[in-house]
Amino acid sequence: MTARIIDGKALATEVRKALVARVARLNAAGYRPGLAVILVGDDPASAIYVRNKAVACEQVGIRSWVDRLPADAAEIALLARIGQLNADPEVHGVLVQTPLPKHLDSAKVVESIAFEKDVDGLHATNAGLTLMGKPYFRSCTPYGVMKMLESINATIEGRHALVLGRSNMVGKPMAMLLLAANATVTIAHSKTRDLALYTRAADILVAAVGRSNLVTAEMVKPGAIVIDVGTNRTPEGKLIGDVDFENVKRVAGWISPVPGGVGPMTIAMLLTNTVEAAERRAGIHAH
Ligand code: NAP
Repeated sequence: MTARIIDGKALATEVRKALVARVARLNAAGYRPGLAVILVGDDPASAIYVRNKAVACEQVGIRSWVDRLPADAAEIALLARIGQLNADPEVHGVLVQTPLPKHLDSAKVVESIAFEKDVDGLHATNAGLTLMGKPYFRSCTPYGVMKMLESINATIEGRHALVLGRSNMVGKPMAMLLLAANATVTIAHSKTRDLALYTRAADILVAAVGRSNLVTAEMVKPGAIVIDVGTNRTPEGKLIGDVDFENVKRVAGWISPVPGGVGPMTIAMLLTNTVEAAERRAGIHAH
């Protein structure tokens, strides 16, 4: 068996096209969605992510601003800037690129963003609402994964979904969204014993760890849906996921590649959340 590929890049293009129409509707009502991104320090990978987000915004007609603060910026200065953006009616989404320099308290910084503008979906209020099955903003990566499952008409209800990883950004909200879709959910992490016991029982396997080739073919149930969130660099600088793609694709029913899988969907869902924030502001109901 060779797994069918879940093409996140193509799906992200579709999602963006749909957003262009929603932005046009907002424009007609006198609104232009706006996303403010704060970048602290000069981490080259973060700078690339921020630039990609700004370019993606432009492509669908979202106005974007990038604030660059020095690596030694005082927390009070960062919080003050977030406060200004919270109060600015032209700004519908605010995000702070992570990781932040060590002297800054990431949790405190995220909590200072108004939850109505937290388009990354990481604020405690948004995490809590997701936990309660009433999401306001879903964390972008798990939201993208749900769209990928939807795009292949995956049956989630009653299926066993295994989430590898329990971060606040990916693993936990992923598990909550799958639970809300009536999957039976297991969460595995670095302390899980006999990982393969769980992975082999999973109809849907989402890997969000950050370890190349953690998921091997022997660990996958034949026909399972395998979504690879992980991003890792080989010594040669090639981007790869957590799943041994070449071998797992012989066992799985569906598989998402890295690159071209979850990555483009994460950005597409950030844009989606930003447009949704602007629609709420404008009193337009798109759904
Ligand atoms: P993270 O905060 O480092 O969390 C990693 C999780 O993996 C932790 O819960 C950890 O367990 C668990 N883990 C570590 N080793 C393990 C093992 N051997 N077996 C099972 N679980 C293990 O990372 P993250 O932010 O969730 O991101 C996860 C991966 O996704 C990273 O590669 C990241 O770059 C990637 N990512 C990609 C996108 C995208 O758009 N494509 C977006 C976000 C993240 P403990 O909790 O016990 O430490």
